[in-house]
Amino acid sequence: MIILAVTMNGKALAEKLKREISTRVKIMKERGAKPTLATILVGDDPSSRIYVDGKSRDCGEVGIHFRLYKLPLGVTERELLDLIENLNNDEGVHGIIVQLPLPKNINKRNVTAAINPQKDVDGLHPYNVGRLWLGAYDLNSDLLPCTPRGILKLLDRYHIELEGKLAVIINRSDLVGKPLAKLLLDRNATVLICHSKTPELEKHTKTADVLVSAVGKRPSFVVGEEMVKKGAVVVDVGMNYVGGKLQGDVDFERVKEKASHIAPVPGGVGPMTRVMLLHNVLIATKIAEGA
Ligand code: NAP
Repeated sequence: MIILAVTMNGKALAEKLKREISTRVKIMKERGAKPTLATILVGDDPSSRIYVDGKSRDCGEVGIHFRLYKLPLGVTERELLDLIENLNNDEGVHGIIVQLPLPKNINKRNVTAAINPQKDVDGLHPYNVGRLWLGAYDLNSDLLPCTPRGILKLLDRYHIELEGKLAVIINRSDLVGKPLAKLLLDRNATVLICHSKTPELEKHTKTADVLVSAVGKRPSFVVGEEMVKKGAVVVDVGMNYVGGKLQGDVDFERVKEKASHIAPVPGGVGPMTRVMLLHNVLIATKIAEGA
């Protein structure tokens, strides 16, 4: 008999968390605070525009004030840094996001480093990255990257035991793989990070108790059932538009016959990432209040 994996419903959990955030925003507003997220969008990349619209909608749903700053494609790095400096000094702004990717003439690292770390709701400032890697962070009160934070929350919701387990992550980016590895290490998992230069990838993925895939190269890269250990927890993070339809990295239909749990795309990590941004704005607002 084939037992199908439990589908980890990130959408439902994100909705529940949104309701809680909405209540907390109301309470903050009653005492005079006005949680505000400022987002800077450079150029008119359609995908970036969609992400920014999504952020605006999410903020609106929970009562967080949203400000959008649109800069033309030809903007210089200096002009962008000046805007960030103004927002750093603006007491009415609690969180700042610069929508990535940026045009080639702008150095992404200079930009993330220019944001006040206390307003860095993407969790990419070297100060916040340093706190994460030193273990000098608190999940409830520090600014950590939204996707890894959302994945951890989803794993916790389904009571996935991490201590002593082997977690294999296919991704080494600053946004996903590296911070997630540290969060899982701090839960006493043994962590292996894989990437495009990892030989014999399948040899590693097949040993994983928890397998996370964030590649986004479908159809050339797909996590098939032959790459998954029986009973593994599989977290799909990849976003691929195939024929206009959103799909993950994982062959969901086949892998669900082998895994114990699976976070699908859509409806898994994506909504959790979005709600964690709202959570980070509340953390930043509390930091500004001196809490
Ligand atoms: P990225 O920086 O391009 O990272 C992709 C990673 O995949 C890299 O580490 C890359 O290795 C690795 N990779 C590429 N081809 C591979 C292969 N054939 N075998 C093994 N590893 C391979 O992108 P990202 O920003 O981290 O995002 C990754 C994916 O996750 C995208 O699809 C993105 O849309 C999605 N994502 C989803 C969410 C969400 O909320 N659902 C959030 C963030 C990202 P190298 O380092 O060697 O190049």
